[in-house]
This record gives sequence, C-alpha cells and structure tokens, in this order.
Amino acid sequence: MNTPVVTRFAPSPTGFLHIGGARTALFNYVFARKMGGKMLLRIEDTDRERSTDAAVAAILDGMSWLGLEWDGEPISQFQRADRHAAVAHEMLANGKAYKCYCSPQELTEMREKARAEGRPPRYDGRWRDRDPSEAPEGVDPVIRVKAPESGEIVVKDHVQGDVVFRAENLDDFIILRSDGTPTYMHAVVVDDHDMGVTHIIRGDDHLTNAARQIVIYRAMGWDVPEMAHIPLIHGPDGAKLSKRHGAMGVEAYRQMGYLPEALRNYLARLGWAHGDDEIFSTDQMVEWFSLEALNKGASRFDFVKLDNLNGHC
Ligand code: GLU
Repeated sequence: MNTPVVTRFAPSPTGFLHIGGARTALFNYVFARKMGGKMLLRIEDTDRERSTDAAVAAILDGMSWLGLEWDGEPISQFQRADRHAAVAHEMLANGKAYKCYCSPQELTEMREKARAEGRPPRYDGRWRDRDPSEAPEGVDPVIRVKAPESGEIVVKDHVQGDVVFRAENLDDFIILRSDGTPTYMHAVVVDDHDMGVTHIIRGDDHLTNAARQIVIYRAMGWDVPEMAHIPLIHGPDGAKLSKRHGAMGVEAYRQMGYLPEALRNYLARLGWAHGDDEIFSTDQMVEWFSLEALNKGASRFDFVKLDNLNGHC
C-alpha cells in the first residue's frame, strides 16, 4: 500500500498572512486533497523574539477565510524543542554529529582567514575528530552535524528538476545551539519526519536549505520527502514582490472587498496554470492539479487581473 500523502504549511508567525504564504498554503492544500491525503499546519515559532500570538491568529484567520482548512490541530514547533534536542543527541551518540567548542572569536578568525585565502567562509570542521578532553573549561558546546566531505547532494525537485550542491559548499552546520535550542534547519527536519510529511511544497528561497536538510535526513537514516520549490512572486516590474508593489497581506484584500474565491483563484494562477483557463473552482483545481505543472519561472502579480476575477468566480 502506498503511504498516504501528507503535506504541510509551515509559516513563521512574525506578521500577517502574506500573499506568497497563502499561495504556498493553497498548493499544499490542493495537492493533499487531490491525493486524498492531509495538509498539516505547523507554526514555526522557535524565534521567540519575533513570533507573536497575534500573528498566529492572523494566519489561522486568513487561511480559514480563504477556505484552506488544515487537518488536526496546529503544531507548535517551539513546544517540540525537547524532541529536537533528543534527536541531536542521538546523532551525537551515533557519530553523525559532534560537539564544537569554538569561541565566537575563533569562528570570526576562521572566516576571515578563509576569505583572505579566497575560500568560502565555512566552518573548517576542526572539532570533528578532536578529543573532547581538550575542551576548554566553562564553554557550552554547540552540536554540529557531519556534512559529507566530498561528492554532491542532489535535491530532486518536482519543479526545479535535479538541483546539485557540491559538498565543499556545505559545512558542518550547527543543529543544536549552546543553550540547547535547535536551529531552524534541524527543527524543520525533525518535525517533517515526525509529522509523516511526504511532500514539502514551499518557496524556492528554501532550496539551499533543502540540501542541508538532506544531510540531516541521511544522518538519521530517514527517508527524504518529495520536494517542490516554487518560484517566488514578483511585482509587475519584475522585482521580488514587496510592500512598494501594494498590499502584501491577505487581510488587506479581504478588507478591500475581494471575495475569497477570487483571491484563491488568482493565487492559483500565480504559479500554476491549466491551459488558458482563467476561472476555475477549487474542485476543478484539485482535479487538474499536478506538481509538475507548477511554473518554473517567477510569476508576476498583476492587480488588474485580480480585479477582473473579483465577482466572476
Ligand atoms: N517557516 C518558513 C517560512 O515561513 C517555512 C519553512 C518551510 O516551509 O520549510 O518561510
């Protein structure tokens, strides 16, 4: 029997539900429905300084208004910190990770030396094979994963094709900070694995993270989920969509009187097409959708097109 499809939308609650985030949520929702699977919602609230309850409420509210129901209860990433730490320690015990006692000053010197020698400013793995008895006293170590020293990491992506990263560009990055909290890179992998996520659909600004995340999957012997990294949305001038192009939040469109069907339809068209069809229902989208049909180039946000859809869906 095939594993049931599980997708997830994983917003960081640092502000309102952004147009780009809503589009990511929509594709996750539609794909899960098409495959008879589930879409889970994970709130990536590990950054305690920037995460707010108001942002969580705004995201849930915006998704509900757009009709993008998630399955089960939203999962808080922050609440799972013990599990993230436990996995890091498991990697340590299995020799897939190690403690690094470098001081901030040592790291700065390492980077400067690399730059001066024309190498990428990467961590040089100096604590990989060092005897822990050499550890300086009173220093809380970080835990770093052992990244491959040679060869390639290939992200097999449904949208981008095979994206190749050379091992020398990936260093032994930190998975657990010296205060015991997980890095974003590590938390995402542990959560996606534990949640049974089979397909990761997200913005292509996460593509280089995907290569690092694969290092963690391999270290744990876990299956790497299928991936689809979607190109970001650009404004009509071709620059990355930003405030100067107009309203960025789903809530702003709601307040301007746009109907959820129109915005949903428009978001779908920003990155996916079914022939020349301009207007379709969510059921039709579910019927016609495929990851391979997602656009490979950036889409341009066009307010006139959105206006034209309002009231016609
Ligand atoms: N929390 C990340 C973001 O809001 C998404 C992480 C992911 O999808 O893996 O950009």
